[in-house]
Amino acid sequence: MGALERTLPDLHEDVLPILAEPALEPDLEMVHTRNHIGRVRSACEQALETGQIIKVDDDTVVSPGSWNAALAAVGCGFAAVRDVLSGRQLGGFCPIRPPGHHATQDRAMGFCLFNNVALAARRALANPSVSRVLIADWDVHHGNGTQDIFYEDPSVFFFSMHQSPLYPGTGAVTETGRGSGEGFTRNLPMAPGLPSSQYVGAFLEGLDHVLNGFEPDFVLISAGFDAGIEDPLGGFTLEQDDFAILTRAVVEKTRATANGRVVSFLEGGYNSAELGRNVASHLTTLRDVLV
Ligand SMILES: [Zn+2]
Repeated sequence: MGALERTLPDLHEDVLPILAEPALEPDLEMVHTRNHIGRVRSACEQALETGQIIKVDDDTVVSPGSWNAALAAVGCGFAAVRDVLSGRQLGGFCPIRPPGHHATQDRAMGFCLFNNVALAARRALANPSVSRVLIADWDVHHGNGTQDIFYEDPSVFFFSMHQSPLYPGTGAVTETGRGSGEGFTRNLPMAPGLPSSQYVGAFLEGLDHVLNGFEPDFVLISAGFDAGIEDPLGGFTLEQDDFAILTRAVVEKTRATANGRVVSFLEGGYNSAELGRNVASHLTTLRDVLV
């Protein structure tokens, strides 16, 4: 807790909380099928009517508050993209639930209802100043939903480091995109239990490869802190300083073309004390490098 207590007072002076408007249901169609949106809405309505938890996937449920939470999460990403594009904010972090990177066009899975980061990418690409978006995903699980959504799309590069084997089982090095999207997906599956320097080194090297052929003008991070050493769902060993290195690298290595236009999204993270420490480290680093 020491680091958290040291860090938060500093952050309060530099981080401006923004209360975002919830997204509207039609906004979700930028990424998701009407069938998927309707299924999630029906399940949420059923939860609201019965006061029960409703299952929408083997390991994904909704509660009476899920519909509003999901639209607020998507809206948070939209607001961050808007404020960074307008120059009102130097960067953004969306501390949202539910997470999003497992949600595909047509399916809720892995605690994810709608793909927050993919929707933000589409929203950014709707701006004339944005033509190439990098999504860097260091959640311990593979962001299969984000990969699927942009698999044939060369305007979005999806770069993921994740544990293998682990849920959801996708994310092999051979998955590199399809059609005009071929070469715009890069996966780094890693064994669990390695020293954290190996994960950090692999991520930095992989990012260099990505940026060797792709010049993003906007950057999104799927910041999953279940890659932390104490997380109950993953076997990675990252600590506060490691997340600071990853954060700094994403901002600095893309600065030449993205000019610090970076918005980060909370994905996984299931040890709450550790999650707090690592988010504080991530935010402190964003504050320090986005100047
Ligand atoms: Zn995860």
